[in-house]
This record gives sequence, C-alpha cells and structure tokens, in this order.
Amino acid sequence: MASSDGPQIFKSLTSVSGVSVWQPGSAEYEKENGSYFSAFEIEVKPSYIVSPNSAEQVQGLVRALRPHVLSGDCQIAIRGAGHTPFAGSANIQDGVTIDMRDLKGVKLSDDRSAVDISAGETWTNVYTELEKYGLTVAGGRVGRLGVAGFILGGGLSMFSARTGFSCDSVTEFQVVLASGETVRASIEENNDLWRSLKGGLNNFGIVTSFKMKTFSSGDIWGGLTYYMPDTFPQLLQNACDFAHDESDEDTHLMCSIGYGFGQQAVTCVMYHTKGEEDSPSLRRFTTVEPQIKQLCTMRTSTHLGFCEELSSFSGDGLRQYWVSVTIKPDVSLMKSFYNKWQETLVKIKDAEGLTFTLGFHPLTKSLLENSAKAGGNAMAIPSSDGPLFVVLINPTWKLAEDDNRIFVAVQDFITELRRLASEKESLHRYIFTNYAYKEDDVLAGYGPEGFSKLKEASEKYDPEGVFQQGTPGGFKLRN
Ligand SMILES: Cc1cc2nc3c(=O)[nH]c(=O)nc-3n(C[C@H](O)[C@H](O)[C@H](O)COP(=O)(O)OP(=O)(O)OC[C@H]3O[C@@H](n4cnc5c(N)ncnc54)[C@H](O)[C@@H]3O)c2cc1C
Repeated sequence: MASSDGPQIFKSLTSVSGVSVWQPGSAEYEKENGSYFSAFEIEVKPSYIVSPNSAEQVQGLVRALRPHVLSGDCQIAIRGAGHTPFAGSANIQDGVTIDMRDLKGVKLSDDRSAVDISAGETWTNVYTELEKYGLTVAGGRVGRLGVAGFILGGGLSMFSARTGFSCDSVTEFQVVLASGETVRASIEENNDLWRSLKGGLNNFGIVTSFKMKTFSSGDIWGGLTYYMPDTFPQLLQNACDFAHDESDEDTHLMCSIGYGFGQQAVTCVMYHTKGEEDSPSLRRFTTVEPQIKQLCTMRTSTHLGFCEELSSFSGDGLRQYWVSVTIKPDVSLMKSFYNKWQETLVKIKDAEGLTFTLGFHPLTKSLLENSAKAGGNAMAIPSSDGPLFVVLINPTWKLAEDDNRIFVAVQDFITELRRLASEKESLHRYIFTNYAYKEDDVLAGYGPEGFSKLKEASEKYDPEGVFQQGTPGGFKLRN
C-alpha cells in the first residue's frame, strides 16, 4: 500500500498554495488519470493527483510530501506527458501522482542559441515556438511525447547522428532535490548531477526545466516509405550497410516490419535533415522495390511537420508492451529475429485489435562519437562499441483477457532474441531506456562504471532515498 495516512497527506498537499489536488470520483481526476498513453498506466489509481504550475509549487510539494515519504506513509510518482507504456512508471497505486503537465513555457535566450523548456511541455509545443525563428532542438521524433521523460531516458532524435542523444543537447537542468532545495545542474555547476540526469530518469529529483542548445532548421526531406513484406531481408542488409558505412550525419533511419488489420507491411521512416531530396545516403532505401506507392509520404516539410506526422500514428488507451534489445549490426542475426517474429505473430495474431512491430533503429558511430563530445551521459556507451542497433518489439491490443498470453509469447520471443544475440557475441549491455520494459535491468546496462557513478550521485543528492524507495516508478538504483 502506497499511502496510509490520507487526511494528513491531503492536508499537506492543500497547504501548498495554488496547487490543484484531485481525488478519485471527481471529474478532473477521471479525466487526468484517463489521459495516459497506455491502458496499463490508466488502470493505476493514485489517491491524489496534484498539478503544480510552477517550479515553486513543485518545491512546495516536495517539502510537504517529504516527511510522509520518509515515514513510509506515502509514495509518489512523477508524471511528464505520460507515455511510458508499462504500469507504475509515471503513476502510483494509492499514492500521490505529481502531474507536471501544467508547467508550461518555451523561452528562447536573447542570443537565440538556447531555449528554456518547462518540464510539462511536449515536443510539438517546443518545435512550434522555435519554428517561428527558423530554429529547432534535437528532441523527439514524435511530437506528442513529453520533453521530460524523453530526455531523462536519453532520447533518440532525427538529428542524433550529428548531435548525439537528445539529452546530450541539454546544457542545464533545474531540479528540485529531495531536500526541497532547487539547484542547477550544468557542466560548471553540479556536474555529476548534470551527467546523471542525462539518461538517469527520476532517480535524483524532479526536473522543472531543461535548457537545450538550438540550431537552424529549415526544410527536411523525408517521411515514410512502405514496402511489400518480402523486401524486409534486403532492407535489413541495407540497414546494416547504412549503420557501418554511412558518413552523412544529416541522415536518419528506422526500419520496421509491422502487422495490423490482418496484413504485414515493411516501413522505412527516413529523413535528410538538411532537406536534400532523395539524398544518396537514403537511396539504398528509396530504391528498394516493390513499394506500396500509394502510402508513401516522402516529401519536403519541417521538423514540426514530420513529428506531427508520427504523432498521428498512435493513440491513447491501448494495451501496450514495449521491449527492446541492443545488438551489433549482423544481418544473419537480424534475419533470425525476423523469423522468430513471424513465429510469435502466429501465436498471438487472433488477439482483438493486435498490431505487432519489429523495428531496427541504428545508433551510428557518429551518434556515439558526437554524444561523447557533448560531455558524457549516464548511459556511458563508448563510441568504439558502435555502430549498434536498438531493436524495438511492440505489440498493442485491446482486451485485458489477452494480456497474459501476449506477455508470455513476447517474453519468450525476447528471451530467444537475447540468447541468439549472446550466442553470436552480438548482444550489447545497453537496453534503450525509453523502449525498456519494467522488468529490464536498464541501469545495470549502463555498465559497472556508469552504474556506480549514478549510485554515488543518488547517495549524494538524495541520501534518504526519497527518489528510490519513495518514488518506485521507473528504473531504480537502490532497491
Ligand atoms: C508513440 C511513441 C513514440 C516514441 N518514440 C520515441 C523516439 O522516437 N525516441 C525515443 O527516445 N523515445 C521514444 N518513445 C519513448 C518515450 O521517449 C518515453 O516513453 C518517454 O518516457 C516519454 O516521456 P513522457 O514525459 O511522455 O513520459 P512519462 O511516462 O510521463 O515519464 C517517463 C519517466 O520519466 C519520469 N519523469 C517525467 N517527468 C519528470 C520530471 N520532470 N522529473 C523527473 N522525472 C520525470 C517519470 O517519473 C517516468 O518514470 C516513444 C514513445 C511513444 C509512446
């Protein structure tokens, strides 16, 4: 049980001036709790949802909740835009969910080289504001995602080959620590905290704003190309060649096979972020046939335009399972993953509303090199380990009665993928945080040195474990 002293907790929450506090049964509570991406987060029922709208209110809430958390009477969750697919990452049964979505603001610096983004923003809002000035940041590929959860999990952007992970573009975090103190974390100030927050999730405090480097962005050429299923082995070969050889840092790719509505199709989502139409770097994908031409969306648009396009492919409230492995590029291994995916699909395809994708997202050597140049992050992946592929497995379905068999089939599938990759010495320790499942040991995947630096930072900035035992959602360091 996450909270046992309701009236006292309610009193403490309402003592924070101006904060909205919602309880079960109220229309606001039902609306807010029903607005997560995944059905599994919606099914979690906190005792209170609180919605601060300023960094001061977040500070007030941490101070008010701290004694309850330390006495073991109360546990908390921190919600960004609420896109984690598994239950309990950004919501908490019988506890207090701090919903950060009212913390709004996208403020460009006077010299326009940086932007301060409040923790409740989505990428759509950030790009909409920056586009007015011909600028953008290396943020999410999907506009509807929360800036906060995305960056604190590392974040893969369409600009990543040039800029590293999205978190590598953050020059300063403002954080409310467990003590209730607000601090800045940057290269100069609290450097260990700055590095830890870049991939270290909610383990150190509540981030209230992110300062990110901006850069000019105009036309981008890209979109989605759809192919017949038989093309997948060829596209996997081309994706491996791309990961190994491609030197154009303005190119981005993800390649997937998906099932839905009784059909299979292959997609490549690709971009040339400097707007070069049919760039040579993408021709190994644009020329593969047979394509499903009527579905192709390749065109010239903007960062905002493309991120809105990807937003339109997902909706809230479905049953979601996202899980991933990271491997070295190895086409025969990737083809065996594809064969195992087909076998798993046969077992679950009768589930109502099933969609099921297997996606390959390259982490190119230049991405890892540019990430290291930006000052390091919690994931600590040496560039010599690259190139790598993040392999994303994602079924979605409608009915709770199918949960168990889908989880079992997909868990067997992922176990088999890990076995196959280990056998070929192609499995990498890193589990892409933003696509990880709750049972994965994500932080151990940051390597022994990376993990111990995170643990040291946690002991220094949160000695009593408010963000460990008191905030159980996500991936923890000290359980
Ligand atoms: C449709 C879709 C597409 C996606 N595409 C990509 C992609 O292209 N690249 C990629 O990298 N990821 C991608 N993701 C994964 C996504 O980045 C993660 O789900 C991320 O957690 C979303 O952030 P959020 O704020 O919406 O999530 P939330 O679920 O609200 O938060 C995620 C975690 O961050 C913590 N947190 C949130 N705000 C704060 C804060 N202010 N301070 C401290 N901790 C906080 C929460 O407690 C939680 O544990 C995608 C997800 C979806 C659903």
